[in-house]
Amino acid sequence: MIVVMKKGATREEIQHMIERVEQLGLKSHPIYGTERTVIAAIGEKRSDHRQSLESGPGVAEVVPILAPYKVASREVKPEPTVIRVGGFTVGDAQIGMIAGPCSVESEEQTLTTARAIKAAGATALRGGAFKPRTSPYSFQGMKEDGLKILATARAETGLPIVTEVMSENDVKLVGRYADILQIGARNMQNYRLLEAVGAEGKPVLLKRGPSATLDELLLAAEYILDAGNPNVMLCERGIRTFETHTRFSLTLASVPYLHDRTHLPVVVDPSHGTGHTVLVARMAAASIAAGADALIIEVHPDPETALSDGYQSLTFKQFAELMTLCRKVAVAMDRVM
Ligand code: PEP
Ligand code: MN
Repeated sequence: MIVVMKKGATREEIQHMIERVEQLGLKSHPIYGTERTVIAAIGEKRSDHRQSLESGPGVAEVVPILAPYKVASREVKPEPTVIRVGGFTVGDAQIGMIAGPCSVESEEQTLTTARAIKAAGATALRGGAFKPRTSPYSFQGMKEDGLKILATARAETGLPIVTEVMSENDVKLVGRYADILQIGARNMQNYRLLEAVGAEGKPVLLKRGPSATLDELLLAAEYILDAGNPNVMLCERGIRTFETHTRFSLTLASVPYLHDRTHLPVVVDPSHGTGHTVLVARMAAASIAAGADALIIEVHPDPETALSDGYQSLTFKQFAELMTLCRKVAVAMDRVM
């Protein structure tokens, strides 16, 4: 249920209703909006405390939450969630641009990339230090040494760091270096990991599983929100279909669909979504036209020698061209980039 407080409800009235909700054995998630405060009252069992809550002080109305996901739902919070980390913003007119190598391979590779993407206008640096690879014989990432390199790149460029955490055992370690924790597609339904990043508190980039429905993505986000972390970005990175010409099928309808259902910002990853360098820029532009709040793009100084995902990575020049194209679409969409 959503306890909608009146516009002028006092702090005491809000606090009173939070306590009332908890006394009824429900979990309370207060959401302080610009217009008014609502308290999402969430419980496992269907219990009807509606009338009792409705008679509380400062309460305008109590309405059921129809969506299976609760805190993530637009019903609970009509205005978009805006997440800001340094110069990186998602969720308002500003479009976030996360770019960088698939994997951190060396200080030189990461630093040259960070400088180049920053010069082209990127607002955050991505780079995997813990890599989820299909084969155990593929490069698994530089682990903590990779995180240190990312921290060096941040110190020099000021770009916040987006990097993947693969296991709940690594959340503390990765959280010490990262500004935004990435949950990879393969881990979208690793519920203990979702709870752990929820408790850690840093903003989370949650990637859609290759065979997950959008409701499953929203319910995965709900785990992080329910653990007390409101800063979750959803990332469409393509799903597995019968099509083999692209690495995954990048379903861009998910962007307006998600915006309709949730207040959380939506990021698109056209690098993994297509799996081919030549397709990335145009799908990035299409993502902005679809309303994406941010993009995440793989860029490498020499894609041919990349230790992972070289075939979908852009050179510095290609990334600068992508930015030029995307800016034109952003202007047409009344967005800033
Ligand atoms: C990545 O970002 O390099 C990555 C492994 O992505 P995904 O989890 O979407 O496959
Ligand atoms: Mn990759």
